This record gives sequence, C-alpha cells and structure tokens, in this order.
Amino acid sequence: MKVIPDFNQTSLVDRSLKAVWHPCTQMKHHESFPLVAISKGKGPWLYDEQGNALLDCISSWWTNLFGHSNPRINQAITKQLDKIEHVMLAGFTHQPVVELSEKLAALSKGNLGHVFYASDGASAIEIALKMSHHYWQLNGKPQKKKFVCLENGYHGETLGALAVTDVAIFREAYGSLLQDVYTVTSPDARKAKASESAEDVANNAAKEVEQLFAKEHEHIAAIVVEPLVQCAGQMAMHSPQYLRLIKELCERYQVHLIADEIAVGCGRSGKFFACEHANIWPDFLTLSKGISGGYLPLSLCMTTEKIYRAFYQDQIRHGFLHSHSYTGNPLACAAALACLEIFETEKVIEKNIARSQELADAFAWAKTDPRIEHWRQQGMILAFDVKPSAIKNISTFPREVFAKCLTTGTLVRPIGNTIYVMPPYVLTQQETVQMGQSIQRALNQVLDV
Ligand SMILES: *Cc1c(COP(=O)(O)O)cnc(C)c1O
Repeated sequence: MKVIPDFNQTSLVDRSLKAVWHPCTQMKHHESFPLVAISKGKGPWLYDEQGNALLDCISSWWTNLFGHSNPRINQAITKQLDKIEHVMLAGFTHQPVVELSEKLAALSKGNLGHVFYASDGASAIEIALKMSHHYWQLNGKPQKKKFVCLENGYHGETLGALAVTDVAIFREAYGSLLQDVYTVTSPDARKAKASESAEDVANNAAKEVEQLFAKEHEHIAAIVVEPLVQCAGQMAMHSPQYLRLIKELCERYQVHLIADEIAVGCGRSGKFFACEHANIWPDFLTLSKGISGGYLPLSLCMTTEKIYRAFYQDQIRHGFLHSHSYTGNPLACAAALACLEIFETEKVIEKNIARSQELADAFAWAKTDPRIEHWRQQGMILAFDVKPSAIKNISTFPREVFAKCLTTGTLVRPIGNTIYVMPPYVLTQQETVQMGQSIQRALNQVLDV
C-alpha cells in the first residue's frame, strides 16, 4: 500500500493546484488559465521550470526594485544571517533596524523621524489608522474616529485596511464586516473634461474634501490617500496639486494625513517619496513592497515627533500597544538597507529619469493606437486603457492578455482594461524596447481574434 504520493509523477503546477490556495484568484479559472512554476530569477528575468525566460514587467507585484537574485542584496542578507536571523523588537533592538530607521528619517529630512514596523502593507495601514485614532483619544478628542478615503483607493485587505479601500471586487463579500467611512471623489486625471486640466480635477476633488471637513471634522481622525497614483485602482493618476490642497485642509481642520506609499514609494514615482512631488510631509507615511527590494516581507509606518510625543507617557495603556511577531526582522531590514545603499551609490533616482524616458519611448506606439486611450506615466509606472469598445469580453480580457504575454516572454497583469508596466529599475534600454514590442504584439493578438 502506497501512503506517500509519488510527487515526481505529477508536475509542480498540478501539485500546486491541489495543495496551494493561490491569492487573488478564482482557482477554477486555472482549468483554462495558466499557472506558471518559476524555478529561478536573475535581474528582471524569471525562468520557468522549462527554462523559458519571462521579463518581469510588474516587478513581481510591485515589490522588486533591483532585479531578482541581486548580488548586493543577497550578500547583505547572507551576512546578516550569520549574525542574527530574528529577535523580538519589544525590549530588544539590533543594528539593521536602527540604521534603517535613521536612514528613513534622514530621507524624510527629519520630518518623519519615528518608524514603527510590521511585515505586510495592510498591517502598516492598520497601524496608521490605530495610531491616528489613539492620538486623538490621548488629546481628549475621542469623538475623532472616522476615516476618510478616496473613491477607487486601495490600502490592503485586512478588515481595517479594507474598510478604507474602495475597489468593489475586494470589498463585495465583506462589506457587512467593515466600519463606516467617508468616501470622497478620486482626483483621477482621466476625469478631466475637454477644457479641463488635471489640476482642475484636483481642485474640484479637494473642494469636496473641504466641504466634508468643514461639516464633520470633529468626527474625523484621518484621511488616507495613495499619493499621485491609485495603483490597484487601475493606475489612476492625479496632480500633486491634490496633495498640496489636502495637506492644507488637514492642517486647517486638524485631520491627520496618511500617505500610503506602499506602492508609489521607494523611487517608483520619480522621487524617493511621492509626497516630495507636492513638497509636503504627511502625519503618517507607510512603506512596504519595494522597501526590502522585493526580498522579504517588511512594512513600516513613519510618523512625526508630535504624534510620537503624545504617546510618550507614564501609563502603559497610553503607549502604542501594537505588535507583530516578525516586527523589525533583521534579515528584512538588512535587505532594505542594501536597497537604500544601492539608491545612494548608484544614483538610482537620477538615473531613473532617463529610464522613465526610455519607458515612454518604448510605449510611444500606444499613444497613437486608436484602440487605446488615457496613456499616462508617473516615473517608473506607465499605463494606458484599452477602449471598452475594442474589447470583446472584459471579464476575461486581463487573463487573455496575461496568457498571451507569457507567449511573448513578458509577465504582465492587466487590471480591467488597463495595461500597465512597473518594471524593476535594472532594465537595459534594449530590454525596455523589447518589453514595449512584446506587449504590443500580445495585445494585437488578443484584440484581433
Ligand atoms: C499592496 C498595497 C497595500 C497592501 O500591502 P500588502 O503587503 O499586500 O498587504 C496597501 N496599500 C497600497 C497602496 C498597496 O499597493
């Protein structure tokens, strides 16, 4: 009698479909939709079990900054592994977490000098929401406990983060579990009418926030925004003007500003922090995804001296009593430090100016394609929408494009009718050109069938 299945008889993909419940996936779709087993990565390339190469155009869900199996990050983690792999951060500290916090504080020019750690992006959002709420309690304003979020915004999928998320597909089944929030109009520049600019759309959207704050600020703890790009919300981009106006309103009405830079931070927008485009600093700024270079789960919430001081008291319950087992993990912090060192020594932000121009050039074809609209770019994010009239079946379109791109050697995951790329900052010009051509070819095949 055989009790141990002979796994060698079945492919890794079949075994995965049997034993692994994959994220953000209707598992039944895998009956017709490919699951790819990756065996290794190098630079912007992923290699499947058969050795086929795929260009990682979306940085493995927006996490990878400097390529897969990056020698400098590999070495930093290996070195740290020989010292200490993990120790709890309550009552203990260690060099990587101290250095990382100092470096981040310096990058914020001292404005956000206190860093609280977690492991995933959603948890960093939970931390910002809880800290804001707790701050108002400590300041004798316990009635300030509601949150304002943006239409089409995304902040993660745990219950607190999901409550401030406005992407229907993620909320639908869980609506009754979520707290009530105020949802305000997105400043999405695609809404501009013929005579309007992105600034006009931002001004109008901010006016709505002003009206809400004027009426309800006594009950509002914070507003949470994704600066410049609502990434999961189909890469909707807006003018930095919106951030300037919201910041001013937050100060006027005593509402915290939470800048969720989990996707747009770490140089993605063209500056290290997206808020820098608007010359503002929020009360809370969250990072995750790119901060560890796409190596290890790490997230954090940066905040101000003022917020930190409010919690600095004699009684334990006035402290911020939140924790995760892997808070401040030394290996993840070592990976993050290696990334920040690469930013510095390789002048990444400066070099990305040329890189984003190459990106624009590689997708110039999409600007004039009559089936495409709303071509847009913010730093190392480029997106465009395929007109609904050109799409036969919108519900299968993203999967069809994904599958067709695999055959042209690219990893792309459209969101609805939006095709976007968000590559690691290591592509050669030739690879960038290749990416543009492969995606064009795949799209032509999908739209013409
Ligand atoms: C991905 C993302 C999150 C959630 O991060 P997880 O690590 O997936 O929990 C939150 N906010 C934004 C803007 C994101 O893009």
